[in-house]
Amino acid sequence: MSASDPAATGSVLVISAHAGDFVWRAAGAMALASARGDSVTVLCLSFGERGESARAWRDGMALAEVKALRREEASRAAEVLRASIEFADAGDYPLRESDELIDTIVRCYRRVRPAVVLTHPLSDPYNPDHPAAARMALQARVFAQAIGYDAPGGPLGAPPVFLFEPHQPEQCDFKPQVLLDITEVFDVKRRAMECLTAQQHMWDYYTELASRRGVQFERNAGPNLGLAHSTMAEAYMRVYPQVTRTLTG
Ligand SMILES: [Zn+2]
Repeated sequence: MSASDPAATGSVLVISAHAGDFVWRAAGAMALASARGDSVTVLCLSFGERGESARAWRDGMALAEVKALRREEASRAAEVLRASIEFADAGDYPLRESDELIDTIVRCYRRVRPAVVLTHPLSDPYNPDHPAAARMALQARVFAQAIGYDAPGGPLGAPPVFLFEPHQPEQCDFKPQVLLDITEVFDVKRRAMECLTAQQHMWDYYTELASRRGVQFERNAGPNLGLAHSTMAEAYMRVYPQVTRTLTG
C-alpha cells in the first residue's frame, strides 16, 4: 500500500490462464489500482501459446517463437498498466491442473498478499483452460489461508475474488454483479490492448464492450434521462459475499 496516497487499498493479484486474458478483461481495474498507488501483480499460468496465438501460427512461427512473442507482448502490456508480471509457463491447451501449479499459486499469494484477487469465471464451454485457472486460483487461495500449509510467509487473509468477464458471457453463466467505472483509465487499457498484436481482432471488440458496460453503469447509477455520456466500464462477478456493516451502494 502506498503511504502517500490515502486512496490506496492494498495490492491486487490477477491470475490469468493465458498471456492476453488479463488485458482484455481486467486492464481497467489494474490501471485504476496502479493510479491510486496500489501494487498490481499478474500471474500468467501459460503464454496462451497454442490456443490464443492464431496469427503467430499463421505467420509460420515455431512453438518457442510463439511463446517468446506472447511473453514480450504481455510484458509490455503489464508495463503500460504499471503491473509486475510473472509467468508459470505451465502450458496451454490443455492447462493441466496439478498440485505443483497450485503450490506455485499459493506461494504467489503468500508473497504478494493481495487485498483483491481477479481471475476467470468457473464456467467456459469455449475454453477449458479458463475455468481450470479459476479452480486452481480458488483452491490456492484456501490453501494459502491455512496456517499449516508449508509455504513461505504467514497465512493469507480473505481477499475478495472478482471474476472478470469472459468472451461470451451468456455461455459462461456470467451475470454482471459489479460494474467498475474505468473511464479515466480507458486510454491506458487501450494502449495495453494494442501491445497484443497477435490478437489484433480483439482491440475494437473490447473497446465496444467497455462502452456497452458503461451505458449499463450509468443506467444502474441513476435515473434514465437519456443524457449523453462517455462512461467506459468493466463487469465482474463475486465469488464470496461482500462483508459490510452498512448496506450501501
Ligand atoms: Zn485465455
